[in-house]
Amino acid sequence: MGLFDKFKEVTRKVHEVENNIYHEKRDYLEIYERNLELEREIAERTEELNDANKRMFTLQHIWDMMNSSTPLENVLEAIVNSTQGELGYMHCVIIRKYHDDQGDYMHVIAQSNDGLIDRLNNIMGAPGIQTRRLNYSTESVFADTMRQRTIIQTKAIDLSLKAVLPELSQETVNKIISNQPVKSVIVVPLVVQKQEFGWFCVFSAREELAGVEMDFLGLFAKQIEMAITIADLFQAVRDQAVTDALTGLYNRRYFEEALGKEVQRAKRQQQPFSIIGIDLDYLKKINDTYGHVYGDAAIKTIADVLKSNARSVDVPARIGGEEFNVLLPGIGSEGAMVAAERIRKSIEAAEIDTVGHITGSLGVATYFEHTENVEELLELTDQAMYTSKREGRNRVTLAKPVSETYWQEIAVNTFIDILSKNKIPKIKHLSKELCLKLQAPANKNESSKEALYTVADMLNKLYNPVHSPGSIKNKVIMAVSLAKRFDLPKEDIDNLRVAVLLYDIGNLMLPDSLLQKTAPLTDEEREKIKHHPLIASREILKPISYIQDVLPIIEHHHENWDGSGYPNKISKDEIPITSQIILILDQYFALIEPRPYRAKLSNKDAIEIIKADAGKKWNKNLVEEFISLIEHDIV
Ligand code: GH3
Ligand code: MG
Repeated sequence: MGLFDKFKEVTRKVHEVENNIYHEKRDYLEIYERNLELEREIAERTEELNDANKRMFTLQHIWDMMNSSTPLENVLEAIVNSTQGELGYMHCVIIRKYHDDQGDYMHVIAQSNDGLIDRLNNIMGAPGIQTRRLNYSTESVFADTMRQRTIIQTKAIDLSLKAVLPELSQETVNKIISNQPVKSVIVVPLVVQKQEFGWFCVFSAREELAGVEMDFLGLFAKQIEMAITIADLFQAVRDQAVTDALTGLYNRRYFEEALGKEVQRAKRQQQPFSIIGIDLDYLKKINDTYGHVYGDAAIKTIADVLKSNARSVDVPARIGGEEFNVLLPGIGSEGAMVAAERIRKSIEAAEIDTVGHITGSLGVATYFEHTENVEELLELTDQAMYTSKREGRNRVTLAKPVSETYWQEIAVNTFIDILSKNKIPKIKHLSKELCLKLQAPANKNESSKEALYTVADMLNKLYNPVHSPGSIKNKVIMAVSLAKRFDLPKEDIDNLRVAVLLYDIGNLMLPDSLLQKTAPLTDEEREKIKHHPLIASREILKPISYIQDVLPIIEHHHENWDGSGYPNKISKDEIPITSQIILILDQYFALIEPRPYRAKLSNKDAIEIIKADAGKKWNKNLVEEFISLIEHDIV
C-alpha cells in the first residue's frame, strides 16, 4: 500500500469515527430531549393529581360536615370558601331562587369570603349584593342553565351582572368589570328533590376551563344538592316534633321547653317575660252552625294572627284545641298588654269565609311581676283569660293576685271550720293561733295562700314529725300542673287544690303510738291506718257543706289503679283522676323525704320506684306526665 492509499485509509477511518460520533451525539440529544419532555409530563400529571387530591379532600370535608348535622348555612359557607380558596377560583357564590307575588327572584345565600365582594359592594354602594333582591331574568345565563340543566361557562360578565341587577347603570357595570382578573363565570344549576333550588357560581381568572374541571364543579353542585336535601330532611323531622299540624304553630311540648329556658334566662338576667293566653270565643257555636271545617278555619285564623304579630324571639303556640299561648321574652306586663291588644284587634278584624268575624278572649301574666313560679304564671294567665270570658269576651285582662281566687276562700273557711269546731283533740291547743293566721287582714291577698300552706304544713307536722315545710305548696303546684295536662276543668282543679291541703287530715284522729311506730305494723294496726281517708271524708269534712265535691277526691286517694288499694278497692276509671294525682304526689314526696324507718331517697330512685308501679298503683299515662313534669324541672 502506497503512502497515498494509507492516507486515504486513515481519512476514511477518521470520517467513520466522526460519523459515529455525530450519530451518537444526535442519539444523545434525542434522549436528552425525550427525558426533558417526560419530566415535564410527570410534573404536569403530579399537579393534576394534586388538584384532584385537593378536590377529593374538599369533598370529604364537606361530606363529614353534612354527616354531623352541621347547620345548612355553615355547610354552604364551607363549600363556597373551599371552592374559592383551596381550588383556586376568584370567587364563589350560591344563589337561591325564590317566588312571591311579584314573581321569581334570586338571593345570594352563601358567598366565599374574599376581596372581590368588598370591591363589588364598594362600587355599587349600600345595600351590598348579598342583601339585595336579585332579578330573575328569563334571558339570563341563570335561566339558560336551569332550562338546559347543564353547566354553562360565560365570558359575558357584564351581561350576567346586568341580568340580575338591571338597575345598575352601564357606568357602574363598566367600573365593576374593568381592571379585574375575573375572565369567566361558570354557572351550575341546583335542583333539589326535583325543585329548582338555585345556582352554584364560580368566578374564574381563566377564559376556558378543562373538561375535568367542569366535571368536578358538577360534582360539587351534586354535593350542595345533597347537603340541602339532608338539611331539609332534618328540618322536617324537627318541625314535625315541635309544631302543630293544623296551624303550623309550635306545639305544647315546644312551648313548655321554651318556657323552661326562658325562666332560666329571666332569672339569670333579672329580666321579666310575659305570657299571653288566647282562647277563641264561641268555637262550639261555629262548629255547630257551619261544621268543623269552618271551626278549623277559625283556629287557623287565630294562628295566622299570632304568627304575623310575633317578633322573631316570641313563641306562639297552640296549647290545646282552641287555646293558644304566646311567650314574650324580655317583655313586662305593660308591653305584653299592648301586644295582646294588638292581637285582639287583628283577630276581630280578620274575615273568615262564611263564618265572618270571630273574637278571642285574652289573658296576660308576667314573670316576676305576678309570680316567680312558672306553673302559677300559667295558671294566672288562664285565670285572666277566663275573666275576659266572664266579662263578655273579646277583651284582654291582666292577671290579678292569686288570692282573689275562689279556692283559697273555700280552703281558708274549711280550715277555720275544722279548727273552731274543736272536734279534733290533737289540734285544740293550736286552733286559736291557726285561725288568727288565716283570718288576719295582713294575710289577705297574696299571702293568704302562704298562710294556707303554713297551716297545712303545721297540721301535717302533728301526725308526721318529719314532714318538711314547703312540701304542701309544692304538692299543690305539681297537682295543678298534672291536672292541666289532663285538661281537667277549672272547678276540678280548684277542688284538687283544696283536697291536696286536706287529704291526710284523717290521720289527726289516729293515736300517736300508731303514727310514729318504727317497728313493723301488725295487720290490725295497718287496717286502722287505712281508715284515714274515710275518717277525713266521712267524719271531719262531711259536715262542711261547701266542700262536698272535694270529699270523693280525698276518700279515694289511696285507691290503686289495679283495684288493690283502699278503702273501697275500686279500680281504673272508677277512681277520680284527681285522687290518682294525689296518690302519686303523696308517694313521691314520701320517698324523697326521710321516714322514721328509712333515709330519704334520691329523685332518680324515687322516679324508678314510681315507674315500677305504672299500671299497678297508677295509670300509665299519669306516670308519663308525672315524669315529664319532674324532668322538665319547671316546678
Ligand atoms: P267560649 O267562648 O267560652 O270559649 O266558648 P267555646 O264554645 O269556644 O268553648 P268551649 O270550651 O265550650 O268549647 C270548645 C269547643 O272547641 C269544643 C270543641 O269541640 C271545639 N274544638 C276543640 N278543638 C277543635 C279543633 O281542633 N277544631 C274544631 N273545629 N273544633 C275544636
Ligand atoms: Mg273557646
